[in-house]
Amino acid sequence: MENLRLSPLINESQIQKRILEIAKELDRDFKGEELIVVCVLKGSFMYYADLIRALNLDVKCEFYGLSSYGDSTKSSGQVRMTLDINASIEGKNVLVVEDIVDTGLTMKYLLTNLESRKPKKIKTTALLFKPEAVKEKCHIDYVGFEVGNEFVVGYGLDFQGYYRNLPYIASVQNMN
Ligand code: 5GP
Repeated sequence: MENLRLSPLINESQIQKRILEIAKELDRDFKGEELIVVCVLKGSFMYYADLIRALNLDVKCEFYGLSSYGDSTKSSGQVRMTLDINASIEGKNVLVVEDIVDTGLTMKYLLTNLESRKPKKIKTTALLFKPEAVKEKCHIDYVGFEVGNEFVVGYGLDFQGYYRNLPYIASVQNMN
């Protein structure tokens, strides 16, 4: 492993508190309705698992695999689907759950793809949002936290496959 320094940014209890707030908003916005919640793999799996457990709605779980970073800390600019959802979303309410929105390319790709399947309504949530990095305008309905234009890991987010298991979010500096 390279010589990296991790600086904690958002701790476990801040994450859990914010997730409960977002779940409350979703419960209110989708009251009495069914929701298909789409986990965007791999990075959002931890946020997704905590968020769906905090929801008081009829939820169906779907998984969508996308890749745009490879092993780099810079987006390749090309989004590749690695796994499609398994169910029809036509006429259904859909919530897309992302770990982080950086350039916005991935979210734009996702929304274009899922909207073509004619859902009733699509909403988006991202645990983290980097407002300074956005290139593709995309609206995120429920944002966990805004972060600066730095590379972050933990709570599902990786660097070269590592650090996904950290229960908190940290920024990464290369000390070489
Ligand atoms: P975007 O297409 O918005 O540039 O990037 C979206 C995807 O890139 C995210 O779903 C995430 O997987 C990855 N990504 C963007 N910024 C970061 C970051 O700071 N840390 C990590 N680990 N992944 C990131």
